[in-house]
Amino acid sequence: MRFTLSMRMEFDGGDDLISGNATRRDFLRKMSVAASAAAITGAASSQPLRQREIKNWDASADVVIVGAGAAGIAAAIEARRYRVKALVLEKFDVAGGTSSLSGGVCYMGGGTPLQQALGFADSTENMYNYMVAAAGIHAPRDRIQAYCEGSQEQFDWLVANGVRYAQKFSAEKEVSRADASLYYSGCEKVFPYRDNARPAPRGHLPPTDDLTGGRSLMRALLTSAANLGVALTTNVSVERLVQAGDGAVIGVEVIDNGERRRIRARNGVVLAAGGFIHNPSMLQRYAPELNRCSAPWGRAGDLGMGIRMGMSVGANALRMNQGFVILPLYPPEDALKGIVVNLNGQRFVPEDAYYGLMGYEIAYRQDGRAFLIIDATTDYAPQDYRFKLAAHADSIAALEAALKLPTESLQRTVDYYNRFAQAGQDPLYQKSPHYIAPLIKPPFKAYDLDLTRAFCPVVTVGGLHTNLNSQVIHVEGDIIPGLYAAGRTAASTVLARYIGSGMSIGEALFAGRRAGAHAAQIKR
Ligand SMILES: Cc1cc2nc3c(=O)[nH]c(=O)nc-3n(C[C@H](O)[C@H](O)[C@H](O)COP(=O)(O)OP(=O)(O)OC[C@H]3O[C@@H](n4cnc5c(N)ncnc54)[C@H](O)[C@@H]3O)c2cc1C
Repeated sequence: MRFTLSMRMEFDGGDDLISGNATRRDFLRKMSVAASAAAITGAASSQPLRQREIKNWDASADVVIVGAGAAGIAAAIEARRYRVKALVLEKFDVAGGTSSLSGGVCYMGGGTPLQQALGFADSTENMYNYMVAAAGIHAPRDRIQAYCEGSQEQFDWLVANGVRYAQKFSAEKEVSRADASLYYSGCEKVFPYRDNARPAPRGHLPPTDDLTGGRSLMRALLTSAANLGVALTTNVSVERLVQAGDGAVIGVEVIDNGERRRIRARNGVVLAAGGFIHNPSMLQRYAPELNRCSAPWGRAGDLGMGIRMGMSVGANALRMNQGFVILPLYPPEDALKGIVVNLNGQRFVPEDAYYGLMGYEIAYRQDGRAFLIIDATTDYAPQDYRFKLAAHADSIAALEAALKLPTESLQRTVDYYNRFAQAGQDPLYQKSPHYIAPLIKPPFKAYDLDLTRAFCPVVTVGGLHTNLNSQVIHVEGDIIPGLYAAGRTAASTVLARYIGSGMSIGEALFAGRRAGAHAAQIKR
């Protein structure tokens, strides 16, 4: 499948590019901002090349896609539907990105064929109501609406591209059992979200052993892309964008086998290069809350190169401090019978919340610190590596003192919790009765949920500002002609609070497909 860049082509201009909704003159006016945005990134290597600096192009395609993960391959598949030449450039020797490492869960609903076959009622409106409520104040309602409206079609698209689902539901709270393809992957059944929308399971994943759904999902999509004639080349790192004099993005500069080469993108460039969880300086600058989490999650390509290249031409970036912070208290679900308290000894979240919500609450609202308090009726296995024991004691008062919590704080919290737990109630957070039990049997234990020490996988979700066609938006509000972004390179529907497993891949596919389709149809 290797596509060699050895063929040299004559310089083919670029002034004929149509610039989406923005005129070239309008856009030129805003160009001066690009230089300062690039300076903010502090990444000299991502400075754009000017068209006038290029004498010859080494290769060309209609749509050039940076990154061979879910977003990039979805963009390429859609571009090929319009019979244009789609070229995917991948930095590493293996295609698939973090997407192939993932569980392959895709958040879909509104009445997918699988939901229907397994007897779960759902609707676009119901899904929208849940997502808006769970996402919180940053919820981009227009995007969520479009995502929900396209959800059933996305399921059909995945199946048409070779992804297989089993007609089996898993009632387990954690990632679905190996042989099942549908489960509740978010907070759908958790207070207060269960009151905003009728709970429906929306985590769809290919049935696989050992949580390797992402591998089978990406294998199917890569095979489909190859069958459709997508050109994919690995071991090619895209380093810089090439800009025409009016600001339109018309190509990329890559390093291929140690050589710098320039590739012309006749219709557009899609940045689908993942997030920046493996770039410590970007993390420190933009997302210190995430920098302290113990387990940066993802393939080595998550270096923020796509975001930096976008910023280098003046793109706006949104919600750069936000991330998908996972604090996996479960499995075993029994651990949810404990209570999670902050440094004031107070509860702040229903313990049965989705682990992405638990992580969010601790990372962003509790300064990264919390404890799980349990009694002798439940515990983790001795060899469990996730959380360290902070203290144990025969009374709550002694545990409180050992944890250096304010006097009587934990005691009052436990007294109040136990008073109602005896009757299976939780008036404060309405935890499911399934996980309610009074904490009365010594010894009592406190597990340390400090995100620097607890097992806390984290992914960035902030990125370039895009519109519903995945076109990148300049800091001044115009579309940057010829430039698209999708997946974790873009700040899109995926948000903190992260509303459920499967949103990252689901949205990467959704935005990638829109980018590929739009770029393919741009008039040259
Ligand atoms: C263990 C694990 C499990 C997960 N499970 C799920 C799940 O079940 N469901 C879910 O929704 N999310 C899950 N996630 C998160 C999800 O996998 C990612 O957020 C998502 O796959 C990102 O997709 P993407 O297309 O944006 O990026 P990627 O899949 O990472 O693809 C980006 C590609 O771009 C390449 N690249 C980067 N820079 C360059 C460059 N300069 N030039 C050329 N190529 C470049 C990278 O090498 C990479 O191949 C999981 C994450 C992990 C780590």
